[in-house]
Amino acid sequence: MKLYGIIGNPVEHSLSPPMHAAAYEATGVDATYSKYRVEEGDVADAVRGASALGIDGLNVTVPHKQAVAALDDVVLDGTAERVGAVNTLDFGESDEVRGYNTDASGALRALERETTVEGKRVALVGAGGAARAVAFALAEEGATVAIANRTESKAEALADEVNEVGAAGGYGLDVLEKVVPDADIVVNATTVGMEEDVSPVPADTLREHHVVFDAVYTPLETRLLRDAAEAGATTVDGAWMLVYQGAEAFEIWTGQDAPVEEMNEALRAEL
Ligand code: NAP
Repeated sequence: MKLYGIIGNPVEHSLSPPMHAAAYEATGVDATYSKYRVEEGDVADAVRGASALGIDGLNVTVPHKQAVAALDDVVLDGTAERVGAVNTLDFGESDEVRGYNTDASGALRALERETTVEGKRVALVGAGGAARAVAFALAEEGATVAIANRTESKAEALADEVNEVGAAGGYGLDVLEKVVPDADIVVNATTVGMEEDVSPVPADTLREHHVVFDAVYTPLETRLLRDAAEAGATTVDGAWMLVYQGAEAFEIWTGQDAPVEEMNEALRAEL
């Protein structure tokens, strides 16, 4: 039997176990998926211990993604290295531990349900962990990304890094009035909309031609997505990113195509 799981703190709320269980059931993969709460100072020991115990793969969630990417004994794939964060560890058959960032590819696959990305203009709100993954994924795919953040200096710093692989600019939130109407794709990767029914994007900037993606998945139907639907735009909710980051992890670990529909159904049943 294969052993998979997730490390984080807190981790009790994680929706990954039912999603991966649904994938094992649909594909007949003989595996279990467990939650491990790991304190911040224990990350290196946890990863080494998992390897020694014969665990096959781990997802990594808040607040450990950056710490795992910085471990000497984790070999990073290109995207994980650029984003500076790991959300999937593959212990594989060899001694080498490989680190991936499937948040980035998950966000891309979520958007690709509704649109192509190459050559598109993206208005991205946020410059935290999720925004880093989205910005690199979309810029590497050939989109031009305008990053708007409450703390403008963080948007500028992220844009400087992203510019090494693609095209990006960093701004304060006031730029949204100007860039959103002309954008093709609008993404929220802030926490705005989770606690309160508010949107980080002015409703009157949203248009019918937009594809609007919100990384927030609690609630599923955020104020931003409601405003977008009212403007006639196409919407993609945050559960899709969660599904595809899990699907990519499943594919890395098992070498099989993930049963995306079953994983999506299991996740939405929990949400
Ligand atoms: P994070 O690293 O803490 O970043 C938070 C971001 O939100 C920063 O850009 C911050 O701006 C901004 N922000 C916070 N409060 C704000 C406010 N009142 N007004 C304007 N901006 C505000 O968080 P994260 O890990 O990137 O997570 C962001 C969201 O993405 C969360 O809802 C998380 O659940 C979601 N997420 C979803 C997935 C998925 O698979 N769907 C994966 C990862 C994350 P400052 O820099 O100015 O503080």
